[in-house]
Amino acid sequence: MMKRNSIKKEVLHTIDLTAIEGDGSFPCPNCGTVLSPDDESEEIYSIVETKILHGELIELVLSCNNCKTTVRLTGFVSTI
Ligand SMILES: [Zn+2]
Repeated sequence: MMKRNSIKKEVLHTIDLTAIEGDGSFPCPNCGTVLSPDDESEEIYSIVETKILHGELIELVLSCNNCKTTVRLTGFVSTI
């Protein structure tokens, strides 16, 4: 196996909020810490990136403060 010094690719987990029941909180895919999108204190996670389309939040990229896993949240807009 070749050893490379390139930066390790981050594993990006995607969570679809429309698939989550309740208040939208979900366990971190890596460490199980419950992350709630309503928690804006950023003590449990840090917001890395927000994507807004037509004034609506469509995507949020979070970083778990416990294990530094990056999680991408989709499904904010409920266009039924
Ligand atoms: Zn975590």
